[in-house]
Amino acid sequence: MRPEILFPLFAPVTELPGVGPRIGKALEKLVGPYIADLLWLFPTGLIDRRYAPKVAEAQAGRVATLTLRIGAHEPPPTRRLPYRIRCSDETGELTLVFFHGRAEYLQRNLPEGETRIVSGRLEEFRDALQIVHPDLIAKPEETEKLQEVEPVYPLTAGLTRKPLAKAMAAALERVPDLPEWLDQSLREREGWKSWRGSLLAVHRPETEKALAAGTPERERLAYDELLANQLAIGLLRLHQRRGKGRSIQGDGTLRKRVATALPFELTTTQKTALEEIDADMASNRRMLRLLQGDVGSGKTVVALLAMLNAVESGAQAALMAPTEILARQHHRTIEALLQGTDVRIALLTGREKGAARQKIFEDLASGAIAIVIGTHALFQEDVAFHGLAFAVIDEQHRFGVHQRLTLASKGAAVDTLVMTATPIPRTLTLTLYGDLDVSRLTEKPAGRLPVDTRLLPIDRLDEVVTAVRRAMDKGRQVYWVCPLVEESEVLDVAAAEDRYAALKAIFKDRVGLVHGRMKGKEKDAAMAAFVKGETRVLVATTVVEVGVDVPTASVMVIEHAERFGLTQLHQLRGRIGRGKEASTCLLLYATPLGATAKARLKILRETEDGFQIAEEDLRLRGSGEMLGTRQSGLPLFRIADPAHHEALMATAYDDMRLFLERDPALKTPRGEALRVLLYLFERDAAAKYLRSG
Ligand code: ADP
Ligand code: MG
Repeated sequence: MRPEILFPLFAPVTELPGVGPRIGKALEKLVGPYIADLLWLFPTGLIDRRYAPKVAEAQAGRVATLTLRIGAHEPPPTRRLPYRIRCSDETGELTLVFFHGRAEYLQRNLPEGETRIVSGRLEEFRDALQIVHPDLIAKPEETEKLQEVEPVYPLTAGLTRKPLAKAMAAALERVPDLPEWLDQSLREREGWKSWRGSLLAVHRPETEKALAAGTPERERLAYDELLANQLAIGLLRLHQRRGKGRSIQGDGTLRKRVATALPFELTTTQKTALEEIDADMASNRRMLRLLQGDVGSGKTVVALLAMLNAVESGAQAALMAPTEILARQHHRTIEALLQGTDVRIALLTGREKGAARQKIFEDLASGAIAIVIGTHALFQEDVAFHGLAFAVIDEQHRFGVHQRLTLASKGAAVDTLVMTATPIPRTLTLTLYGDLDVSRLTEKPAGRLPVDTRLLPIDRLDEVVTAVRRAMDKGRQVYWVCPLVEESEVLDVAAAEDRYAALKAIFKDRVGLVHGRMKGKEKDAAMAAFVKGETRVLVATTVVEVGVDVPTASVMVIEHAERFGLTQLHQLRGRIGRGKEASTCLLLYATPLGATAKARLKILRETEDGFQIAEEDLRLRGSGEMLGTRQSGLPLFRIADPAHHEALMATAYDDMRLFLERDPALKTPRGEALRVLLYLFERDAAAKYLRSG
């Protein structure tokens, strides 16, 4: 249960003064439902009101706080003109200007003949000084109301500066002193304040410098978050290890049969990876292994051969893919490879319904199905296995930690293999999984030709269409990718539909369309038509990004390439260059394109090395983008940024590993404090392993 000391922070934001249902909704959208969520919204700027000149010295363009005598009010003759109030001090005159000002309100707050403190941005208008809509108006005796340096927060629709500032101030007042969960010597070494002290300092920046990710205050809070995460992972791994693993050793018959039927030889690194996986499965320890291999390096076949090892020993295996298209493709590929064997496989996505779905559940529970391939539908509670021994999770960065681990809990001692094309740096894997073993596919299958990548401004679309026509005439197939329009799948799809209509006018029924809002059946049909070559151009949104494998496609056009992350472009481009023909990728960008943005795209022209590209991406855009967590709505961290806090990530890992060895039940005073931390960052799911342990 959540520790009582946190109750004030886990009340709804609507409990704060001034936060009604409307502002409450906007806040919830911006940060989340709880007051605690609001605390993690850090200022991104500040307004310094400490500049307090006399009128005669005041410089236009600056924000200033002035003490003024209020003079004559000049209501406008018509509504279109502003309401003006003449003010002065002993050195000069200044006008306050209000558009659509309400006379009654202004007379009450700025009564003629009195003195007021007024703050806002100074402007020069026809040689006179004015402030349009001052931010602050206070009586001289109310100076405590004036915040000399005001933090500026990112806003969202429906939320303005003042109510947010008010809500934040009230939230900060609720912040309790929490027991210290940090190791004393670390805290001293880093010179960190208490949690509360750091939080308050972050929300009260005095200078621009205080807004950087590298201040001791922000670093401490980032470390707290990383620590909570490592604690959660550590507890989970302890729990998993307590359960015994089981040794799995197939007799190799099925595997041999499938391997000989493959139209190619396994690469050396595929063989090595498979040996490593075999050794893990044979041991009594539970396996958790990451299989890293650039797009097109052939991870699927490794996964299949590993699954067969489990099947040979009489157990079940599951393969989970992040999208339905991918799950279906894996199912198709694997079904074909298993022809002539008696291994029963099934597909389970959101689309198998009714009696068919029920039958799958039954056959999984009885053990009649040996291999199941699916989407996250595999996690759901009704899915029970007879004896799941091996779980593969494809393109893992699309899933949350929680999801990754639920699949493993569907069997008594499940060995897990996660596969990714993103070459995640070691510190980041520690952050995602704690310690885990890694196998790498470092070679591409033989015979792959490099992709010729070119950059073109989008206004040269005519040339692109001509090039596409030429390619089609030569019998080649083309992916035409339309970009993600920010935060709007609807607009996204509209853009793809427009492009589809335009290309259809030119290429007639040789064009297909696939996007995320289509019904499952339509999607399948569109993909199938493209695979069979009935359509030659496939207009698509980023649904084709991950894993789709159509070897005969050798041209890719990507519209608005500048809107994509480099890793994402690399993934997309990985869809081509898989066949015998040389492939071409055209990156179309909107003009004008800044020098940095262009340099970024040029990296893709220069290299096909996923690792180099990912490093560049991490440097340029931060880990959320690189891991695709932002698109999938699974932010890893709210404060910590793996691009900035790499050293802290490693320290947090070591810290929790050592600590849990000594106090796995969190019984010591530091353990008690860490328990509070776990709940503070809502890593509660891990707390259940505490109780049961
Ligand atoms: P990814 O690692 O991106 O998931 P896939 O598993 O989809 O890659 O494999 C890409 C393509 O390469 C598939 O068509 C697959 O059949 C083929 N392939 C896999 N291994 C080899 C190999 N050793 N030699 C030649 N082709 C291979
Ligand atoms: Mg794949």
